[in-house]
Amino acid sequence: MSEKIERLKTVIIGSGPAGYTAAIYAARADLKPVMYTGMEPGGQLTTTTEVDNFPGYPEGIDGPTMMVQLQQQAERFGTEVRIGMVTAVELSDETGGIHKLTIDDDKVIEAETVIISTGASAKYLNLPSEQRLRGGGVSACAVCDGFFYKGQDVAIVGGGDTAAEEASYLANICNKVTMLIRKDHMRASKAMQHRVNSLKNIDIHYNTEIDEVLGDQVVEGLRMVNNQTGKKEEIAITGLFIAIGHTPNTGIFKGQLDMDETGYILTKGKSTKTNKPGVFASGDAQDKEYRQAVTAAGTGCMAALDAERYLATVETPEEVV
Ligand code: NDP
Repeated sequence: MSEKIERLKTVIIGSGPAGYTAAIYAARADLKPVMYTGMEPGGQLTTTTEVDNFPGYPEGIDGPTMMVQLQQQAERFGTEVRIGMVTAVELSDETGGIHKLTIDDDKVIEAETVIISTGASAKYLNLPSEQRLRGGGVSACAVCDGFFYKGQDVAIVGGGDTAAEEASYLANICNKVTMLIRKDHMRASKAMQHRVNSLKNIDIHYNTEIDEVLGDQVVEGLRMVNNQTGKKEEIAITGLFIAIGHTPNTGIFKGQLDMDETGYILTKGKSTKTNKPGVFASGDAQDKEYRQAVTAAGTGCMAALDAERYLATVETPEEVV
């Protein structure tokens, strides 16, 4: 005898600020949301120390605490939070169609609406020496790991706002920060560039890339290369921070949802609607521009409202028993 497939009104995939905000709104609208947390419950903010720019926290709040509180708030209205990964999807094309989601490569569930809030992950250079030393001094999050290199010499790769912000953060706790920028200029905002330039212990190298990360078990140094002259130089460091951008976690939707060339899900107009009826995208999975907790939360709210309105307009097919 085959088991009955679980049918849910709203499934939220991902547990960052977008997912939890969607959950709060969906639960209050009686959509009985079920959230699958993904591999990193709480999302990117759980690897952040202080969040100083989320409105309503005049003293700031640490990322993990904020995520626990968001979860409590979502659960207070009846969201069911399940630890698990959505590993495959079969999104329906028809209006009012049911979407099938595979959980942990095993169980299949059905959803009338799906809210995607799978976020984005940090990019790496993918040099063999960098990959080998991940966790041994190579990190993609200065605010998470910078503390371990207090008073030491470190390097950071990247010239965007993230790199500039993390370089200033590191300059406060480390002895010296070498910043490697592959172009002859920084992409970061003028304000961030000014901040980086004003810190005396940040040494900026333009037109510079990593040739090899040195060290056997842990990072001991770096060989950098000037991409204009070919000149190589070695420096001693104990920590290397990679800050070269993020990749959206949208692989399972490829071929089913419209995306841009870098994998960010495309949404319609000012809404969170995707090209599939009943499927909504929020947070960093659809935003490469702002990528802030507060903007992610805003789009999570929009996704829940869009899902509620969608459900009010469609007739749902009968469950197959
Ligand atoms: P960005 O894509 O803006 O910048 C990535 C940086 O990494 C660029 O300097 C890029 O160089 C460099 N880079 C990419 N690949 C490589 C590589 N293989 N080797 C060496 N360097 C590489 O990413 P960010 O994470 O910095 O920012 C993403 C978005 O988030 C931006 O819109 C930014 O403004 C925003 N943001 C805002 C903040 C704030 O307002 N407080 C804080 C942090 C981010 P190149 O320029 O040559 O392509």
